[in-house]
Amino acid sequence: MRTKIVAGNWKMNNNFEESVNLVKAIEKKTDVLKLKNTRVIVAPTFVNLKSVVDSLGDGCVEVVAQNMHQAKKGAFTGEISAQMLQSIGIKTVILGHSERRTYFNETDEALAEKINTVLENKMEAIFCFGEVLEDRKSDNHFNVVESQIKKALFHLKDTDWKSIVLAYEPVWAIGTGETASPEQAQEMHAFVRSLVADKYSQAVADEVSILYGGSVKPGNALEIFSKQDVDGGLIGGAALNVDDFIGIITAI
Ligand code: PEP
Repeated sequence: MRTKIVAGNWKMNNNFEESVNLVKAIEKKTDVLKLKNTRVIVAPTFVNLKSVVDSLGDGCVEVVAQNMHQAKKGAFTGEISAQMLQSIGIKTVILGHSERRTYFNETDEALAEKINTVLENKMEAIFCFGEVLEDRKSDNHFNVVESQIKKALFHLKDTDWKSIVLAYEPVWAIGTGETASPEQAQEMHAFVRSLVADKYSQAVADEVSILYGGSVKPGNALEIFSKQDVDGGLIGGAALNVDDFIGIITAI
C-alpha cells in the first residue's frame, strides 16, 4: 500500500516566531486525527529548519528542506549541503520545484546530480516536475514531463526508488488559483506511473507515491485525492494557514 503524503512548502514565508507557532499548531491538530499510513510534512526556509525541528514533540509532523546543493562542501556561497541538513535531523529534501527551475535556472542535469547526492547520503527526495501553460495548450505536456523524469531519474537503480517521492506540479496551477481537474491530475499521474513501470517494473511503480501540487485547497482536496494514482499533495499557499492545511490533511 502506497504511503499518503501531505507536504506543505512554506517557500520564503514565515519568520522564526511564525514558523514555530505554525508548526506547533499543525502538530497539535494533526495528532488528534490519528493518521494511519499518512505522512504530514512541512518545509520551512533554511534559516528556520532547526527551530522548527526542535519545537516539535513526538507527533507525526516531519520537517524537510526546500532545496539542497549537489556538492559535498566548498566554495558555493549561499548554498546548503546534504550533510548540513542531516546534522540538524533533516532526511528529506524537495528538489526541482518550478520556482527553482524558473528563477534559479535549475536544469534536469543539475537535478540528476542533486538526486545522486540525496541517495549517497541516504536521504529522500520529493522530486517536482510539470509543464508550463504553453506546453499544456499545445498538447506537449506528456512529452515535457517524460523528458523531465527521464533526465533526472532514469539513471537510478530499482532500489533507489524507495527514496523518491514524485510531485506533479503543472506550473500553470501553482499559486494561480487554477487547479488541474482531478481527471487531468489522474491522467498525468497514471502516465508517470506507467513510465516508471516500463523502465523498471510494475512493482517499483506501484510503490512510488505521486503527489499533486497546484492550488490545492480544503474545498478541492477530497476530489483530487480520491483519484487512484494521486497519493497526496504538495501544498503552497494553503500550507501557510493552519486550518486550511488541516482541512487538506483531513481530506487525505
Ligand atoms: C507549490 O508551490 O508547490 C504549490 C503547489 O503552490 P500552491 O499550492 O500555492 O499552488
